Amino acid sequence: MRICVIGLGQMGGNMALTLQAAGFDVTGSDLFDSARQRLADKGLSVVAPDELPPSDVYLLSLPTSAQVREVIETAPGLLGLAPKGSVIVDTSTSDPVVSRELAAKVEAAGLAWLDAPVSGGPKGAATGKLGMLLGGETATIERLAPMLEAMSARYTHVGGPGSGHVVKLANNYLCAAHLLTTAEAVAMAARAGVDPAACLAGLNSGSGRSAVSEVNFPEWILSGRFDSGFTTGLMRKDLRLARAAAERLDMPPGLLQAVVEAWHADPEHPADGDDFNRIAGARLAAATPAEESAS
Ligand code: NAD
Repeated sequence: MRICVIGLGQMGGNMALTLQAAGFDVTGSDLFDSARQRLADKGLSVVAPDELPPSDVYLLSLPTSAQVREVIETAPGLLGLAPKGSVIVDTSTSDPVVSRELAAKVEAAGLAWLDAPVSGGPKGAATGKLGMLLGGETATIERLAPMLEAMSARYTHVGGPGSGHVVKLANNYLCAAHLLTTAEAVAMAARAGVDPAACLAGLNSGSGRSAVSEVNFPEWILSGRFDSGFTTGLMRKDLRLARAAAERLDMPPGLLQAVVEAWHADPEHPADGDDFNRIAGARLAAATPAEESAS
């Protein structure tokens, strides 16, 4: 299976290397020479965006739907150059409305579509242990099973085109909310004299636990490392997409709006380029007595 990975950032670069190590014929491409060079130095065959080779799969890992649309539609774009029968797999966290529109165009051009947004960060991409949410046809998923198995610890087919992106936005809304609520809970315990690490150990044995309390707090927040590889800017983008989806669907008022506002309250703290866990670190530090402060 020939796979062309487009977007060689934190996620795409690691996915490309994982697929190559698993024996697939992988070529990578990125808008920026520096990103291409970084992957070439790691042994990946790379090409400029106007030199994409004929492939069975075009795997996209791009910042937003705007770049996904550009790569698919802007001349020549994948619509013009991808061989009939090839599959476009969008692993980006994209706008489901745009994904559904692009999926229809892709299918009309004789190609197949799969949205396959991922969880697990750069580490999951580098180790083939991503979680993937799939939106597309069962036949496409069966065809791509060897590739999906090489990239992920688990993949879940959640519906037709766009469904993977819908569920990804729901997931990231929960993750963003858990970062705020867990920071507040740990800070409250700290003010009452409980050590944050001990508090986390207690929470993780109870019903308030989440991936945020089990993974993010020990790995990136209490450790002070803040090097998860996922930026605040990307999480803000996901939250705005979740809010737009809720508005379009005429959802009754809930907590989503408050979470979106909290994440956008101060554009510099954390800044878009900062690790997304900083939002919890800052809240914890601000609310925790000095001698208990985690970082
Ligand atoms: P990134 O910014 O590190 O990488 C994106 C890459 O796309 C960059 O190298 C950029 O140069 C390239 N690019 C931009 N426009 C392009 C174009 N028109 N043609 C070719 N290349 C282009 O981002 P990332 O952290 O790897 O995230 C990629 C996607 O995965 C995003 O949608 C993000 O929300 C999602 N995601 C990221 C993480 C994470 O932990 N980083 C986890 C899950 C999902």
